[in-house]
Formats: sequence, C-alpha cells, structure tokens
Amino acid sequence: MSIQIQNISKSFGSFQALERINLDIQTGELVALLGPSGSGKTSLLRIIAGLEEASQGVILFGDEDITLLSAKERKVGFVFQHYALFRHMTVFDNIAYGLKVRPRKNRPTKSEIKEKVYELLKLVKLEAFAHRYPSHLSGGQRQRVALARALAVEPKVLLLDEPFGALDAKVRKDLRRWLRRLHDDYQITSIFVTHDQEEALDVADRIVVMNEGKIEQIGTPEEVYEHPNSPFVYHFLGNVNLFKGRLHNGKLQHGEFEVEAPEFDETVSTDAVGYARPHDISIKREYRQDYAAAKISYIHQIGAVVQVELIRKDTGDFLEAEITKEYFRSLDLKTGEDVYIKPKQLKVFVPEDYSI
Ligand code: ATP
Repeated sequence: MSIQIQNISKSFGSFQALERINLDIQTGELVALLGPSGSGKTSLLRIIAGLEEASQGVILFGDEDITLLSAKERKVGFVFQHYALFRHMTVFDNIAYGLKVRPRKNRPTKSEIKEKVYELLKLVKLEAFAHRYPSHLSGGQRQRVALARALAVEPKVLLLDEPFGALDAKVRKDLRRWLRRLHDDYQITSIFVTHDQEEALDVADRIVVMNEGKIEQIGTPEEVYEHPNSPFVYHFLGNVNLFKGRLHNGKLQHGEFEVEAPEFDETVSTDAVGYARPHDISIKREYRQDYAAAKISYIHQIGAVVQVELIRKDTGDFLEAEITKEYFRSLDLKTGEDVYIKPKQLKVFVPEDYSI
C-alpha cells in the first residue's frame, strides 16, 4: 500500500508541531522518520495511524483518501516503545487478540486462528513461548510478541514508534536486523520513528530527516549521509569537520586550502563554511602544498576503519579523519606525530541565521 502525505500541518494550541509535511511512500518501502526530540516524528506517525487529527492536509493510502477514517478503519498495525501487552493474557492470546475481536462475519475459526498464531510465533522465533505470560519474557521477546500481534491482522501498513528504544544496545541491533529481514519477506509498507541515526542508516530504505516540525531532507541512507542538503543534516547524521573561510571565484578559501565549491557561481563573494565527513579528510605524512599541518591527538581503531583525531596547528581546530586500516598501516601513524591534512571535498554553506 502506498502512502501519500499532502500538506499535513498540526498545531497544539498556538504551538505548531508540524508544518506542511509532504511525503510519498512507495508500496513495500521501509521508511525511517529521524529527528531530535520534539521534531514532530511521533505526531506525524500518530496522524498517519489515525490516533491524532491533523489540523490541515490530506493522507492517501493507495488512491483512497483516509484523512477522516478512524484508526481502526485504516487497518494499520502499530508497535510502540512501551506498547503494553495484555499482562493477564499468554503470548498466544496476545497475538490472537486482534483476530478474536473481529466482527463475527469475518472472524476466522478457532483452528484458523491457531494456525495463524503459530505461523507468527515461528516467524518471531517464539514457538516455545506460546503459553508464557509477558512478565516472563525479556524486553526483546516482548517487542517481538508486540510485532507478531501487529502483524496478525495482516495490516497494509505497519507503524513503529521507537520500537526498540527501551532495549539495550546489543538486543536493539539484533532486533533491527531481524525487522529488516521480516520486512523483506513480508513487504509491508512500514514507517518507523527513531532518534537513533545508526538505526535509521542501518535498516531504512529511505530516511526522512525532521527538524522543528519540518522535513529537512528525504533520501536513501547514502544520500542523506554523504550528501546532506543542510548544516543540520550534516550535524545530525554523523561527525563532520567544519572549514570556515571565504567563498570567492567559485572556491572556498580557507587558510592554506582552496577547495572547489561548484554549487556557487563565480560572482558570489562571502564568508562561508565548508563541511566534510571524516572519510573525506586526506592525511599525508610529508608536507604538500595546499595541505595544513596537524598533530595526531588520538587514534581509535574500529573494525576495518581507523579514526584519527587531529589538532590543526594553524587554527587550533579539532578534526576527525577516518581512513582504512590498510592506509593507516602504510602511513605508520602514532599519537603525537605531525601530519598534513586536506579535505578531499567540501560542501559549502553560506550561514544565514547562525554565526560563523
Ligand atoms: P520525541 O523523540 O521526544 O518523542 P518527537 O520528534 O516524536 O519527539 P513529537 O512527540 O511529535 O516529537 O512532538 C512534537 C512537538 O509537539 C513537541 O514540542 C511536543 O511537546 C508537542 N506536542 C506533542 N503532543 C502534544 C500535545 N498533545 N499537546 C501539546 N503539545 C504537544
């Protein structure tokens, strides 16, 4: 089921929580709503679910305008961070609940319900837990039951609000991988809310980055990480190095460097800031023209990459570079040593409402 969100706004009294949100989601996509606390993610999800009314705007599921339908009529499945399972019911009964309460005419038979519940238990790998009560499950197992319960009614759309937020890091990571596989098998159009960048980058087909009730950027994980269209997205999605300088003749001039800024035409002359991710910083052992001297302050090896923290000698600025293990070995770097650095590429922004 595709979803079209058209011009959705939401006010709580005089406070505007969402401002003209437009978003098209394709059938079978797994989309993350990512943003800091208070950016409007949950409000948007609740409006899509029908749990909250929009102040303005329209939502379509497929070709159907569902803006005025109740949550029940929308046939969506939800999983929330603290989605309480029924404590007095077993895992089996929790999952069966949505099927048992259907109106008589489209309620499945007892044996059909049993078959369906066991199919879901198998899917969430909890067959052996059918007769346990929620209090005898771990947090991760409870969320898997919540997911099975949401899937039992065969929703066309699955909405998840920080589904793994309350779990510890390891369980979180396992569950999100598992959610991805489950999604790939079932191909249900799914939207999940998170404030965890890594989670969004790891599992989503597309990420919607939200800030102060507006969409800052929509794109694949690679697009939003590698090609942010605003300083906010650069900062929010990962580490970034800033190069303050002067934009002139289509280049950012910054101390010893001059880096092309093709997005600006040659007539623009103003103060500006270049942004570069750590892997865009080039490190050399020997002096090169156009490179700046820096001292290595810390070396941190994580898997196949090595993070090198540096202090610029000319400006005293802190920098973070990321290089491959092979390159790191070939350079034979040690903490305290001097090197030369330059950003391989920069995305230049002209600050408007923040000072440089
Ligand atoms: P978090 O990650 O903290 O849950 P969020 O991005 O999901 O944040 P929302 O919960 O959508 O943000 O809230 C967006 C803004 O709307 C916040 O400033 C919040 O205080 C406000 N808000 C949300 N619900 C209500 C409400 N029922 N009444 C008044 N203000 C509300």
